[in-house]
Amino acid sequence: MTTYDTVIRGTLVLPDGPQEGAWIAIREGQIAAIGSGEHPASAAYFDAGSDLVIPGVIDGQTHACSYGGLPGIRSTTRSAVAGGVTTIVDMPYDNPAPLDSVARLDAKVAAIAEHAHANVALYGTVMPQQSTEEIQALIDAGIVAFKISTFESSPTRFPRISANQILEIFEVLAETDIPLGVHNEDQEIVRARIAAAKAAGLNSIEAHSQSRPPAAELAATAQFLELGAAAGAHAHIVHLTTTRGFDLVENYLSDGYRATGELCVHYLWFDPEIDGPALGARMKVNPPIRPGQIEELWDDVDSGRVAFVSSDHSSWPIDNKLTDSIFDAGAGVPGLETLLPAFFTGAEIRGFDAVQMTVEQLCERPAKFFGLWPQKGALRIGSDADITIVRRERQVWDSAQAHDELCWSPFDGREFSVRVARTYVGGKLAWDGAEIVNSPGDGRYVARGTSAWF
Ligand SMILES: [Zn+2]
Repeated sequence: MTTYDTVIRGTLVLPDGPQEGAWIAIREGQIAAIGSGEHPASAAYFDAGSDLVIPGVIDGQTHACSYGGLPGIRSTTRSAVAGGVTTIVDMPYDNPAPLDSVARLDAKVAAIAEHAHANVALYGTVMPQQSTEEIQALIDAGIVAFKISTFESSPTRFPRISANQILEIFEVLAETDIPLGVHNEDQEIVRARIAAAKAAGLNSIEAHSQSRPPAAELAATAQFLELGAAAGAHAHIVHLTTTRGFDLVENYLSDGYRATGELCVHYLWFDPEIDGPALGARMKVNPPIRPGQIEELWDDVDSGRVAFVSSDHSSWPIDNKLTDSIFDAGAGVPGLETLLPAFFTGAEIRGFDAVQMTVEQLCERPAKFFGLWPQKGALRIGSDADITIVRRERQVWDSAQAHDELCWSPFDGREFSVRVARTYVGGKLAWDGAEIVNSPGDGRYVARGTSAWF
């Protein structure tokens, strides 16, 4: 008789829908059997009762190393598993230098082996004036996507790439399934508007939002989409803040080009006119959260126009946010432990099928997008045993209890309808609902597989 390492019973959220009282059997880090009724013998058994057993969440946009460098992988992935996130897809803008070569990829993979509690897939980038020669070697080494920016946040870590260089990168990627993502803001518009706002003595989160107007975001988005279309490559906008942005993406898609747009969960929760006075820099992100967009963006999720939803988790300590001027505050918010409960709750409040929408947007779609499907993103035989157990239990978010070593959040005081009861990474318990119980290095580097979005 076959024995398994672990059997988990609960309401399994399978590809064809939830099944109550079903079980999943794990052997050597993979899902080896799924069934209902009497469960097979196993070394460990966990009865999740009526809790939901879903595929581990894949957070398609995180910044683990933008502040503390590569060791930032440790606190970021601790926060991940506490938030039910079993794989992060980490952005390339590491401190002090971004992931633009196989040598830097090797260093980051070594840091994952040393520090990671969750699995980590990686974006790469290309620096200004850097040739496109390294791109293929990075693809061969398993990079899941590339990212560039049309706006310079930092000359060394997060530089601006010119339209001509973007076109050259697209031309190299055109023969592949690899997306090129963009941070989509027009540099000239934003710099001029910030200078004007500062000269006028403005200093508020609303002034931040107004200094980076939708036109700056949409002009950069449109140019990027056109460059991708010209080369025949997959153009991906890593964050759109208005439904108009998704209209642009849809136009290219319906013309037969490979175009996608992503949302981050804070755009689905916050409005500067409502939340700005209380949150201030705590809700400063780029591109900024716009007034009056929340419900339209939820409709974009519902209609399938959003490729997937991510956290855009940024590892800024609060000191970097509470500067005298809003314009000096770091952009970005921590989000690994709030992504799943905030998305689920927001979907449920609006009457959507929160279970199905969560698994689709946070598990299946990012897995397919980054070439990780069907190894990840679904509970099916042969998939990696990355599993999250979600309990329907009210909680008021308190970032003092977060595991990211940052302990601040725009979601503080917000009520969520679910909490993460358990997280398994590669078949091993990583989070037991109270403590992180796996070890640094239990998370693995995840190379791109063969699934493709288009
Ligand atoms: Zn980001």
